Amino acid sequence: MSTELTIPAQLLPRDGRFGSGPSRVRDAQIQAIVDAQPAILGTSHRQAPVRNLVGDVRRMLAELYALPDGYEVLLGNGGSTSFWDAAAFSLVERRAQHGVFGEFGSKFAQVTAAAPYLESPDVREAPAGSVAVPQATDGIDVYAWPHNETSTGAMAPVVRPSDTGGALTVIDGTSAAGGLDLDVQHTDVYYFAPQKSFGSDGGIWFALMSPAAIERIGRIAATDRYIPATLELATAVENSRKDQTYNTPALTPLVMMRNQLEWMLAGGGMDFATGRTAESARRIYAWADDSSLLTPFVTDARYRSQVVATIDVDEAIDAGAIAAALRAHGVVDIDPYRKLGRNQLRVGMFPAVDPDDVSALTASIDWLLEKLAP
Ligand SMILES: *Cc1c(COP(=O)(O)O)cnc(C)c1O
Repeated sequence: MSTELTIPAQLLPRDGRFGSGPSRVRDAQIQAIVDAQPAILGTSHRQAPVRNLVGDVRRMLAELYALPDGYEVLLGNGGSTSFWDAAAFSLVERRAQHGVFGEFGSKFAQVTAAAPYLESPDVREAPAGSVAVPQATDGIDVYAWPHNETSTGAMAPVVRPSDTGGALTVIDGTSAAGGLDLDVQHTDVYYFAPQKSFGSDGGIWFALMSPAAIERIGRIAATDRYIPATLELATAVENSRKDQTYNTPALTPLVMMRNQLEWMLAGGGMDFATGRTAESARRIYAWADDSSLLTPFVTDARYRSQVVATIDVDEAIDAGAIAAALRAHGVVDIDPYRKLGRNQLRVGMFPAVDPDDVSALTASIDWLLEKLAP
C-alpha cells in the first residue's frame, strides 16, 4: 500500500540517512579514503603513515574532549560490544553496578553477570524511556551506564557518584560521543565506536581513560586472572601509546574518523557538534509535541536524547508503513529498535545530519500522516 505513495520531491531530505548507527557518512570522508591511496591504504600498520593516522585520531579526540592531564586515548579492534568483554576482564575487580534502561546497558550487565570470576552485578533497572542513575553502594568497584541509550532514545546524566572510594565510572558513550556534551572528569572510562556521531565504520573501539582506570588495568593484569590476549586492556594501553593496535586494524574507518574529527574541530569542536544535534533535537521534539498523532516516547524532557529521537505514532496509523514509504524514497533506517516493540519511529540526529534535513523529514512524515490517517 505505502509504495503507492509518492512524496513530493521538494519535501524530501537531501540526504536520507537517519540511522542510529551506522549513520550518515559525509562525502568528504569518502574523498579522504580516495586520498589515502596509495600512501596509507595497503601499507603496514607498524610504519609511520598508519601510525601517524592513529596518532592524529588520538590527538584530535583529546582535543575535542579537552582531556584532563593524565587521561589517555586508547583504541582496539572489535567495537563497543567487544569492549564490554574487555572491560569485564580488565576493569571490573569484583563487582559492577549497572544502570540499565534499555538494550545496550542490559547487554553489558549480562556480560559481567556471566563472568565466572566476578560476583553477580548490582543491576539498577529503570523502564525503557526513563534512565537509571548510579547509587553509591558498598563493594562496588565499577559503576557502568550508557550516556545515551540508543534503543530507547533516553540520555542520562554523566555524574560521578560521590563517596565511592576508588570505584571507576565506566560510561558507554557509543551513540553519545561526538554529539552530546561531557565533563570527562566525571568518567574514568568513556568508550565508544565510530559508526555513530563519527560517521565512520564499525569494528573499532575508542576509550578515554583516567589514570585511575589505567592503574586498575595494570593491577588486574598482575593477578592470575586468565585474560584472552585480544581482550587484555593492558595490551591495548601498551599498543595505543605507540599509536598501534595489538592486531591489524581496518584502515579505512580510521581515515574516515580522522576526517570527521577534522570537520568537527574546524567547525569549532564540541560546541559546533552539539550545537547541531541540539538544533535537530529542538526541531523534532517541537514537531512531535505539536502533532495530535505523535508523542515523544521519552516523557521527561530532560532525558530526551539530542542524538536519537524516539517518536510514538498513534495506534490508528502503522509506523511501519511510514518507515516503509520513506524507505521507498531513499529515506532510511527510522524503524524503532526491534525489541522495544512499539509503534514508533526512531531518528538518528548525529552531527553530520543537517538540521534542515530533519525538518524535511518531519515535513515528509506530515505529508504521509495526512494520507495514512483514517
Ligand atoms: C551501537 C551501540 C553499541 C554497540 O556498538 P558495536 O560497535 O556494534 O558493538 C553499544 N552501546 C551503545 C549505546 C550503542 O549505541
